[in-house]
Amino acid sequence: MEQMDKYLAELNEAQRAPVLQVDGPLMVIAGAGSGKTRVLTYRIAYLMSKGVDSFNILSLTFTNKAAREMKERIAKIVGNSEAKNLWMGTFHSIFAKILRFEADKLGYPSNFTIYDTQDSQRLINAIIKEKGLDKDVYKYKQVQSRISSFKNSLITVRAYFNNPELIEADAMAKKPRMGEIYQEYCDRCFKAGAMDFDDLLLKTNELLNRFPEVLQKYQNRFRYILVDEYQDTNHSQYLIVKALSDKFQNICVVGDDAQSIYAFRGANINNIMNFQKDYDNVQVYRLEQNYRSTRNIVEAANTVIEKNKTRLDKVVWTANDDGGLIKVHRSHTDAEEGRFVASSIFENEMQHQLNHGQFAVLYRTNSQSRAIEDALRKRDIPYRIYGGLSFYQRKEIKDVLSYLRLILNPKDEEALVRVINYPARGIGQTTIDKLTVVANHYKRSIFEVIENLDRIDLKINGGTRRKLDDFMTMIKSFQVMNESADAFTLAEHVAKKSGILNLFKKDGTPEGIARMENIEELLNGMKDFVEGQKEVADARGSLSEFMEDVALATDLDKDTGEDDRVAMMTIHLAKGLEFPYVYIVGMEEDLFPSAMSMNTRSELEEERRLFYVALTRAEKQAYLTFAESRYRWGKLVDGEPSRFIEEIDEKYIEHLTPPMKSGYRFKPLMDTDIFGDVDKSKFRQSKPVSGKPPTHQQPNPEKLRKLRKLKPEIGTPKGNSTAATQDLEVGAKVEHSRFGRGEVIGIDGVGNDRKAEIRFQNGGIKKLLLRFAKLDII
Ligand code: ATP
Ligand code: MG
Repeated sequence: MEQMDKYLAELNEAQRAPVLQVDGPLMVIAGAGSGKTRVLTYRIAYLMSKGVDSFNILSLTFTNKAAREMKERIAKIVGNSEAKNLWMGTFHSIFAKILRFEADKLGYPSNFTIYDTQDSQRLINAIIKEKGLDKDVYKYKQVQSRISSFKNSLITVRAYFNNPELIEADAMAKKPRMGEIYQEYCDRCFKAGAMDFDDLLLKTNELLNRFPEVLQKYQNRFRYILVDEYQDTNHSQYLIVKALSDKFQNICVVGDDAQSIYAFRGANINNIMNFQKDYDNVQVYRLEQNYRSTRNIVEAANTVIEKNKTRLDKVVWTANDDGGLIKVHRSHTDAEEGRFVASSIFENEMQHQLNHGQFAVLYRTNSQSRAIEDALRKRDIPYRIYGGLSFYQRKEIKDVLSYLRLILNPKDEEALVRVINYPARGIGQTTIDKLTVVANHYKRSIFEVIENLDRIDLKINGGTRRKLDDFMTMIKSFQVMNESADAFTLAEHVAKKSGILNLFKKDGTPEGIARMENIEELLNGMKDFVEGQKEVADARGSLSEFMEDVALATDLDKDTGEDDRVAMMTIHLAKGLEFPYVYIVGMEEDLFPSAMSMNTRSELEEERRLFYVALTRAEKQAYLTFAESRYRWGKLVDGEPSRFIEEIDEKYIEHLTPPMKSGYRFKPLMDTDIFGDVDKSKFRQSKPVSGKPPTHQQPNPEKLRKLRKLKPEIGTPKGNSTAATQDLEVGAKVEHSRFGRGEVIGIDGVGNDRKAEIRFQNGGIKKLLLRFAKLDII
């Protein structure tokens, strides 16, 4: 602890002030990369060094990964055993834990299931069907997101029916039965002992409102509360924080209004604006120095965000080097954009000796990842996509988990419907439908109906009854085993006994094998978990311990940071993160800003904030790329450069391709295969003409060797010098390392734009940019 002074020296003066204010409400408002998260981390360590018990501190972060990293840092300062007890995590994971303690008060079992979005959507879809509603009017995803927005605004079913405006709005939207679906959905979740993601916040509010003694308990416990990314809290989260901090008012929130990007999910930027009204004597701190990015990036980002009218005045500057300009690249197609990104990453890795993990590719929508992935794969550049389906949401994994969920909570309807006839055991949909009707009628779970089949007059034949009985007996036998076995032993038994493993073994297709391997990975993970738990006193590594965090786990949480791969994710997910090299792809009108967010100024401003977030993730170098045409919804559509490129002051930009004004409609030019091959020419050009290249630019020999093994053409250039190919003429015979032999049938363009049209012997005709083409003249 004496070391605290040493650690405080790692902060600048402006950062130290909010760290040293132990008591009372405070808010840190500051731009990207100015150390807000760092302030939170050091503040927690400082509180502990001043004798605050870690038990009394609650810290809410945007991802669990961020929480883990903060905890590791704090552990370094105050010691491991002290840091261990800290409550840090996302709103959802923290309040799910609290709800488990207090579940009985709300009429839930403590082992309630958490329905993920998939489960919620499936249930809503089923309800729409059961009610015989038109699925084109009542689109289940839309209905789900409306219900989600009710919950995040604390509009319960009762509140809905008491609100004529809401009822009318839904009627106007031609969905008069929305309230009815909402009600049925809530009833069914309750009956199944399940909470969805939004319930975790809604029910916490309910708990704190209805039970003053519970509120007091947690108020006394969490004497110091800290919230990161406060600008993106929604109403429901806001109320929880407000209630918990009401007694001691030791609340510290940090945020940046310019990075508020979740309004579409109910985040309310006013939470930050109103903070000073909500508490007495609020101290407001500002941080202005950015430590993350080069000066070019910081200043370019400033010029963009200045275009927003709704914003707090903030200064962001940096003492860092100027760094390179922001590089803008145009390509003809999305495939070519992908190839550019892959080549450029490859070149940077070679020139600056970088690891894959130092690069990130950010995009507006998930569907953009495919073209980039294809190109990275061709280059053997390993990558990792974040925010796709989490491991636990893959079909085969969810199937196994559904059995496990049933063991803990046999009322879990989604799990039951998923596996009652999987693997197939002759229980048909008609039977399931009949059981559902009875279950709904008696307000009981389907499992309870099966348990009581003898006593219910239901038209189900003897054979099917036996099958249902066998299924129930199997689940009950798992439950008995669960009383003594650890999670791994039980899950392995379940995977075998249920028939799932066998199904994939018999299948034998590559896909089947991949699925089996995934299940193995799940089991391995459980084994690890059990081994880990055994060291902890009183823990047996039980199934319920394992399942606690599974529903809320995202693939970002599994990231240990040691993984050397290019990171790919949406900009939304990149919030709070940083990478040396960042590629923001798909910088086109209608894509970014999104076509759906250009109706009002406030929507456009949110898109601009999103761009600000994207740009400020970069530490050393940012690239912006756009394509003149790309496949969207299966169609090739023309695109023009995003207005956000133009909004950056020109002096911070370097155009790698001739610039195009936004608003100009591009005609497709030609299929120029600029980066069809490894761009060695540029790599060579980067070396000085004479003398040794600067050491940092020299490729690491070990890395080169590895790459040579993967791509023989890199280490053994057999092409003529670029100078020779620049002089190519029509009629020349050439050989290309990838396309083979061919004849030049046309030449156009001059200088760096000189291109050759070549008919290759394999039949293809390609236009190649001679500056880059790797051709042998034969
Ligand atoms: P964002 O708005 O993107 O969430 P932030 O304000 O939370 O950013 P941090 O992530 O805390 O900023 O800090 C940005 C980077 O600057 C981090 O790498 C951090 O370690 C570094 N940094 C912050 N303050 C200092 C400092 N005083 N000295 C050295 N490095 C610092
Ligand atoms: Mg941060």
